[in-house]
Amino acid sequence: MDLSIQNIEFCKGVGAKRADILRKELGVKSALDMLYQFPYKYIDRSRFYFIHEIDDEDTYVQIIGHITEWHTIGTGAGARLSATFTDGRHTIELVWFKGIKYLKLERNTQYLLFGKPSRFNHQYNFVHPELTPMAKVKPEMTKGLEPYYNTTEGMKRAGLNSKAIRNITAELMPLLRQGGVRETLGIDLIEQQHLMPLTEALANIHFPTDQIAMQKARERMKFEELFYIQMQILRQMKRREQNEGFRMPIVGKAFHAQYNALPYALTNAQKRVLREIQSDLKSGKQMNRLLQGDVGSGKTIVALLTALLAVDNGYQACIMAPTEILANQHYETILQLLHQSTQSLHDTTRPLVNCQLLTGSTTTKQRIPLHEQLRNGEIDILIGTHALIEKEVQFANLGLCIIDEQHRFGVAQRAKLWEKNIRPPHVLVMTATPIPRTLAMTVYGDLHVSIIDELPPGRKPVHTLHYNIERRTTINQFITQQIDMGRQVYVVFPLIKENEKLDLQDLQNGYNTLCQTFPQYKISMVHGQMRAKDKDEQMQRFASGETQILVATTVIEVGVNVPNASVMIIENAERFGLSQLHQLRGRVGRGADQSYCLLLTKLELSKDTRKRMDIMVATNDGFRIAEADLQLRGPGDLEGTQQSGLPFELRIASLTHDGQILDVARQAAMAILDADPLLDEMHNRIYKQRLDHLRQTVVNWGEIS
Ligand code: ADP
Ligand code: MG
Repeated sequence: MDLSIQNIEFCKGVGAKRADILRKELGVKSALDMLYQFPYKYIDRSRFYFIHEIDDEDTYVQIIGHITEWHTIGTGAGARLSATFTDGRHTIELVWFKGIKYLKLERNTQYLLFGKPSRFNHQYNFVHPELTPMAKVKPEMTKGLEPYYNTTEGMKRAGLNSKAIRNITAELMPLLRQGGVRETLGIDLIEQQHLMPLTEALANIHFPTDQIAMQKARERMKFEELFYIQMQILRQMKRREQNEGFRMPIVGKAFHAQYNALPYALTNAQKRVLREIQSDLKSGKQMNRLLQGDVGSGKTIVALLTALLAVDNGYQACIMAPTEILANQHYETILQLLHQSTQSLHDTTRPLVNCQLLTGSTTTKQRIPLHEQLRNGEIDILIGTHALIEKEVQFANLGLCIIDEQHRFGVAQRAKLWEKNIRPPHVLVMTATPIPRTLAMTVYGDLHVSIIDELPPGRKPVHTLHYNIERRTTINQFITQQIDMGRQVYVVFPLIKENEKLDLQDLQNGYNTLCQTFPQYKISMVHGQMRAKDKDEQMQRFASGETQILVATTVIEVGVNVPNASVMIIENAERFGLSQLHQLRGRVGRGADQSYCLLLTKLELSKDTRKRMDIMVATNDGFRIAEADLQLRGPGDLEGTQQSGLPFELRIASLTHDGQILDVARQAAMAILDADPLLDEMHNRIYKQRLDHLRQTVVNWGEIS
């Protein structure tokens, strides 16, 4: 019987009502779907413990022994029953709060106790353990690893608890063994990767014969899951590689002038990345590349040189940033760089390259000529915010689009860019925060990746210190000392979007306190609620050195560049995520002086917060921090995927733990697609069919692109 067409309703222990709930809650329609509901844990029922071996609250244990005495404490609803259980050598307390009157304990009976120990008053006890007289213990109860399944409230109401799922699944085992499911991976692949065949894997993932079989089964199912996600992503990528792209073979005057005018030599990593980009641009295929590099690794100049390659080939380029402050900053930086290159050419008075800015605060009056110049091709590079993708903004010949700080742009917004020319322009996505490898391979798996893994020479690593706020005096002394040495200081307050009023209040209070503490210094303040003009003015005062302290919300998180500012103070650091902290820290350490980052928190910290602070203090390496972030928070919560969400849901594999399997699965998928991009060959039909099936049945699969 083919379990994929066997309606779950007609399986033993299900019926119409439960089938309905299984469909609604888990999307389970067929018997095969049921088999793809994997246990989230196993309890080893073949192992028997002694009381003295208990050393963990979270592990189920079973113990053979008997009860020596019991008594009830209290009366009525608050009553509890306490019993003493012994394995012959040691004793442990058993406690019941509910159903006491149904409990029939016997003194001279051997029991099998099963339960999860909890800790109370520095001692272990069992609350509501299962007690089964040994005479009634069936052999299969203590045979091996017992699977446990996730359930929902709705399922529980219909009696579909973990045990019920286990029973339904157990009933399917004979059908499975009679050949009820078709293999989903090619035989070559299974052999080459030493994978467990599907039938065996499904049997062992639910009812493992032993620990090793369980591991092998889980590995096989993880591989299958990651492999098909990679197949889908890579197929998309291959298809897109068929897209013709604007051909940009020339490395011309604009590029060379800029390159030669740079006051520093590019790092080897910057050079390598530029070569990768250039080879895309001249290939005749549309570029889709992700540029990763830690804060301060010098992505801006790479972006500009890339834009100049487009200009040299007669195309326009745009650079899109997520905030106005950042767009402004890019514009200022790039104008300055372009100015250097124009000057170096002596004979030219007119700039080689026309670069303009377009943001939300560009007035209608300013827009009219801007739009005109874009349409007639006078503008070569347009820098801006979301305003760039508005419909009225028409280019003469847009050939390249650079998106900075990718994670704030949705996929849909990126797609709007495609419509700006007859062919999709080349796309270079730059991320401010390094992305853990496993995420890069999945969420961004359809982009080619370039990494700047080297910082410009001479950077002194930022010194990071963690203080609790009771050390305020020390902190203030440090601020005074640094400013008196001629440095400048950022003080950043967190921003929680749900309550902007309160945040501003925090910021305002912080500002007032600083003004009182440091009457001798000038202080500027910026936050997201300010008008762009005022923000600019305040930033400018700080950048020019007129003010010594800049108080800000996270608006300064991205991109701001004031080399003389060498101290970053982060208030309420416990309220920031790791990548945000790392970004903020990246604002300092840009000049010649030793820089400092002070993380200020309250005294009492949760375990996770303490870990976050420890990691920040321990390393400046953005990739390590990104990995730690993934470990601490899980992929769903990571900045960058938060808004868009992972385009798929993983049932069994984890982007946190299964990086190695992911690697192998991606390579395997790549090899198959390289040899047969359309999966037309006979032995690859199996993959094509499975992909079609997944696209039709799995929610969100269509969106992997
Ligand atoms: P990010 O990658 O964070 O965007 P930026 O592009 O803002 O980094 O660069 C940080 C600083 O490093 C800038 O002041 C820039 O001028 C400088 N810089 C970039 N590349 C080099 C280099 N090869 N050598 C020296 N300084 C560099
Ligand atoms: Mg940057």
